[in-house]
Amino acid sequence: MEQDCLFCQIITGQRPADIVYEDETVLAFKDIRPHAPVHVLFVPRKHIRSINDPAENDGPIVGAMIMRARALARTLHVDRSGYKLQFNVERGAGQVIFHLHMHLVGGWH
Ligand code: 5GP
Ligand code: ZN
Repeated sequence: MEQDCLFCQIITGQRPADIVYEDETVLAFKDIRPHAPVHVLFVPRKHIRSINDPAENDGPIVGAMIMRARALARTLHVDRSGYKLQFNVERGAGQVIFHLHMHLVGGWH
């Protein structure tokens, strides 16, 4: 938990979010400024800066993010129409929140 991290604040319930999935490892909530009909952010409960930073033994956390996103895509019926899973890594790639997150975007028809 990082006191001034927006996503840690969502994880601890100090900041509201439209949560669509949670378990002991990851939380998923709707992006506040969606770029597509479906735009969900998957974040690990553990504060990790970006995909550059998971330790070797954090592999299962990254795996869980992807597997849960795949399952949610199915639940939201975008698995066949198509979706993207995206990590923005550091400022040059557009990362503005420095708590690891993966964008699930889709729902175009
Ligand atoms: P990045 O550009 O860092 O990969 O993505 C950060 C994303 O977080 C952006 O798409 C932005 O709209 C979203 N975001 C920023 N602040 C909040 C917030 O307080 N709540 C939610 N739900 N999304 C946020
Ligand atoms: Zn954080």
